[in-house]
Amino acid sequence: MELIVQKFGGTSLTDEQSRSHVLRHVIREYKAGSKVVVVVSAMGRKGDAYATDSLLELIRRNGDALPPRERDLLLSCGELISAAVLCSLLQAAGIPAVVLTGGQAGIVTDGHYGSARIVKMDCDRVERHLTDKQVVIAAGFQGVSGSGEVTTLGRGGSDTSATALGAALKADVVDIYTDVDGILTADPRWVANARPLAAVSYEEICNMAHNGAKVIHPRAVELAMKAGIPVRVRSTFSDGEGTLVTHERALRGQGIWYDRTVTGLAHVSDVTQLAVINPDGPADLQLRVFRAMASHGISVDFINVMPTGVHYTVSEKDAPLAIELLRELGLEPKVRKACAKVSVIGGGMNGEPGVMAVIVEALTDSGIPILQSADSNTTIWVLISQEDLAAALQALHTAFRLHLSPVGGN
Ligand code: ADP
Ligand code: MG
Repeated sequence: MELIVQKFGGTSLTDEQSRSHVLRHVIREYKAGSKVVVVVSAMGRKGDAYATDSLLELIRRNGDALPPRERDLLLSCGELISAAVLCSLLQAAGIPAVVLTGGQAGIVTDGHYGSARIVKMDCDRVERHLTDKQVVIAAGFQGVSGSGEVTTLGRGGSDTSATALGAALKADVVDIYTDVDGILTADPRWVANARPLAAVSYEEICNMAHNGAKVIHPRAVELAMKAGIPVRVRSTFSDGEGTLVTHERALRGQGIWYDRTVTGLAHVSDVTQLAVINPDGPADLQLRVFRAMASHGISVDFINVMPTGVHYTVSEKDAPLAIELLRELGLEPKVRKACAKVSVIGGGMNGEPGVMAVIVEALTDSGIPILQSADSNTTIWVLISQEDLAAALQALHTAFRLHLSPVGGN
């Protein structure tokens, strides 16, 4: 008997019509004889009554004056509302179902409110309900600490709940249902002709997610990868197969992998570039700069160390503090705000010559200056001005012929 974990994101639960699609997917798997664990997010997006952002808005008006413990209690409500509403739909359809909080579903975390890490899974109760032929609906994004406090897992936490449950229950597959047809060659909000990929490796999607593709949380992928549980990212609103995520060797074994150089594009907006050039500065200038950033938890990127100084980027929200810290060191950085980082990603680009040439040509032909670049054996990153982002993504997508990716064939 198959065990399936299905995760439904906020937009899949917004209104009655979308919930009817959710119901259809749950009932289909249940009637096919599978054990079904459903993980739900809070309903809708910002502006919708019970969305996580709306719950936060309720306290923002009071100057956010709520301690972290109570804040997590508030945030955990959105998923419980979704879970109870879905339970009522299943019961009305004659399907036995039970709602569990994250803690009741066995997700035990550390005590870091707002970004708790899972430390243990204890799924006996879930297994009992499944044996009793009940659909288990678990509230995503939440767990319980060792001392019994409700915790939340941070953004994208419901994806993590789903793959953690999948790993602990040795699920046959974890289905991440969302509002797009799968993992696409680029963010469809930016590239209109982005195409769904039939299959990607864990590494590739992790890489895309770390570089800004918010379709699935990288921590969720890492958990699935460790346990070797296949993940499918698919649409709530269609019956498409979506994108299979598994080990590259498994994809090769199934004959659904060919050596593509570039799999897709990802991007991060709101990046600030800092240039600290000071030929007469102290010999350990670079060290001082990065120590200052590290000691204040500022993550740095695009690091380019030169004898005369250093270039690097920080997120826009960290930029004011980063600049202040540099000034405290007696350094005056050159600041370029409103940059974006574009990542060209592909497990197959390792050792493949000419990828950078295609990037430079595509951007140059579109009149887009490259401010900085960096590369690894699976990714090339370029820093550009935010105002060039849409044109850059489209130019690169076309240059790598990603709009021609064979749907279902790769
Ligand atoms: P959910 O509420 O279902 O968790 P998310 O908003 O977290 O949904 O993730 C789905 C969204 O991710 C899509 O609507 C899409 O705009 C965005 N996205 C970004 N990059 C990609 C990509 N490469 N492939 C698919 N979706 C992407
Ligand atoms: Mg999501």
